Amino acid sequence: MLGIEHDAPQRYRDTELAQGRTVARLSRRGKYLLIELDDPDQEPLELIVHLGMTGGFRLEPSKHTRVTLHLEGEDAPPALYFQDSRKFGKMAVVRPGRYAGMPTLANMGPEPLSPDFEEEVFVQRVAGQSRMIKPWLLSQLPVAGVGNIYADESLWRARLHPAQTRLSSAEAAALYGAIRATMQEAVLAGGSTLSDGSYAQPDGVSGLFQMRHNVYDRAGQPCNRCGVPIEKTVLAQRGTHFCPHCQVLEQRE
Ligand SMILES: [Zn+2]
Repeated sequence: MLGIEHDAPQRYRDTELAQGRTVARLSRRGKYLLIELDDPDQEPLELIVHLGMTGGFRLEPSKHTRVTLHLEGEDAPPALYFQDSRKFGKMAVVRPGRYAGMPTLANMGPEPLSPDFEEEVFVQRVAGQSRMIKPWLLSQLPVAGVGNIYADESLWRARLHPAQTRLSSAEAAALYGAIRATMQEAVLAGGSTLSDGSYAQPDGVSGLFQMRHNVYDRAGQPCNRCGVPIEKTVLAQRGTHFCPHCQVLEQRE
C-alpha cells in the first residue's frame, strides 16, 4: 500500500497509518471489509471499510471516486478506487479487532451462511427481545449482513409482518430458514443492482437478484404467492415492502 488519498479526514480516519504497509489478508463481516495491513517493524493494523449504501471499489476512477488506494506489487493493479455517490461509506485504520468506536461491527451477530448462525440460538434471541422484527434484524445484532432489501425479502418468505413483535418459536424458526435461503440465493445471483445502478460487482457487472425480488421495489405489483398488490410503508425510517395478505400484523400484548 503506497498510500490512501482522499480529502475527507472525518469520513476516512487515520488512513495515513496505512502508508507503506503490506496487505496481508482480506476478510469481511456483514457489510464491513477488513483489510489486514502488515509492517515488518511494527504491530499489524487493520483498515476497516464500510460500503454504506452506494460505496464500492472499482478498477477505474469515476466522478464519484472519493478515495484512491495506491498499490504496488506484481499482481496488484496500480490503484483501487472507492466510488460512493451518496457518501455514506466510511473507512478507518485501527489496531486489529479494536472496534470500540464502531458499535455495529463490535456487536455484530454471526454470518448468515456460516455454521456459527445456529437456529436454536437465533430462536432464543428472538424470544428474548421485544422490538419490532425488521428494525431488530437491521441492527445486525442477531445476524450479520441483512440490510433493507434482504430483511424485506426474508420476512415475506417467512410470512411475517415487518412490524411484528413477540414472535413464536415456530415463526422465529421460519425466519431463520428464510434468512438463510434469501442470503444464499442473493449471493449466488451476485447481489441486487437497483435502478440507481450504484451496486455492482468489482468488475462493474450488475447483480441479478433484483429480478427475483418478491417484495422489495415491487409496490403495487401482485404478490408472487397470493396476487394481492405489494404495499410500501416506512418503518423505522426505512422504506419497507410487504404483502398485506401474506404478512398480517397481529396485536400481541
Ligand atoms: Zn401475498
